[in-house]
Amino acid sequence: MKLNPLHNQVGGHDGVLSMGEDNEIIVKPSLPQELAFYEESVLHPELAAWMPAYYGSLTLTRDPAAIAAMTATNEDGAVNSEGAVAAAIKAFNGYPVGDFLPLNTFDQANPDKDPEVPLPVEKGEFDDECICLENVSHGFTKACVLDLKLGTQLFDDNASEEKKARLGAVSDNTTSGKLGIRLTGFHVYDGEKEEFVKYSKQHGKSLTEATILEGFRSFFAAKLGPQRMRLVVERFVNDLTDFLATIQEEELRMRSSSLLMMYEGDVEAFDKGVLEEQGNIAKVVERAQAHLERQDDDDEEDEDEDEDDEDFEDEEVKQKVTDMRLIDFAHSTWTPGMGPDEGVVLGVKSTLSLFEQLLVTDYPED
Ligand code: ADP
Ligand code: MN
Repeated sequence: MKLNPLHNQVGGHDGVLSMGEDNEIIVKPSLPQELAFYEESVLHPELAAWMPAYYGSLTLTRDPAAIAAMTATNEDGAVNSEGAVAAAIKAFNGYPVGDFLPLNTFDQANPDKDPEVPLPVEKGEFDDECICLENVSHGFTKACVLDLKLGTQLFDDNASEEKKARLGAVSDNTTSGKLGIRLTGFHVYDGEKEEFVKYSKQHGKSLTEATILEGFRSFFAAKLGPQRMRLVVERFVNDLTDFLATIQEEELRMRSSSLLMMYEGDVEAFDKGVLEEQGNIAKVVERAQAHLERQDDDDEEDEDEDEDDEDFEDEEVKQKVTDMRLIDFAHSTWTPGMGPDEGVVLGVKSTLSLFEQLLVTDYPED
């Protein structure tokens, strides 16, 4: 199995990895609190729909002895040279990139499937617990990515006094305090230069209530033309409206969680994605009509129906146009009985009103 640094990480701690044939799985070192939050999310399907799919956890090791054991033989069973071992442990933030040793794996979707390495292996000082998540950027060709930190309070109750003071000041001195949002980091594809333009955490921190709209304009700066950009912003407005309705019903405290917003930055891929979606909608309509016709006809058997379902699955969207998800739950907890997180609600409302403003001023309907 192969692990790679996530090539389009825009925020947070270094060390987010991806794996799979098409890097469709995120492997992220995680604190027990985040793991617990994902585990419990199955009890909150409406919010979970906004989160990346959760596949389970695995342990990565940086233990030189374990890595040496793993790389001691090559595919032919011959013992590797010292050079090969050295290459395997060539570190990316301490992880052996290229190969790794999953000490235990548990596939939530297939609980009956045997783990790849027999359990249990005791967790040692060199081991890191990781969560495996759906890579939200999978399905994009040139993903423009924004990490938008939500909420007015950025620390949880377990934080040290020093951290509370520090993050309290960060909130007071950035847009987090007044608006409940901060642009953490983002990157935008420039189709003319064929390169990504990156914006740092410092840039996001430097924005104010007066300039944050400019910040969003920099994110919506892929050169796709005003009609496509209007579609992008409209879709985020729709997502944010639905998301707002959901979090107003959820009882949890999110501290330093983010909305991960993505749109396709390559013009051809964008149009392909839109066409694929339209094809899918046509399929749904066709299917509904066929279903109604069948209901009219009493003698008709149900056999065709399954076949139709299969057809439909084949037509799943392959190229995404936009996507918006909630991520980063290292400091978030479910809090039954405590009502919604008002700082996060404020953040979503602020974003909605800024995006609605952009629709009026930058992308007016013609
Ligand atoms: P941290 O606790 O270090 O802030 P995050 O969960 O916020 O960790 O992840 C850091 C970055 O990694 C995000 O800003 C984003 O760019 C990327 N990332 C995290 N989760 C995903 C995901 N499921 N799909 C795609 N990118 C992700
Ligand atoms: Mn984060």
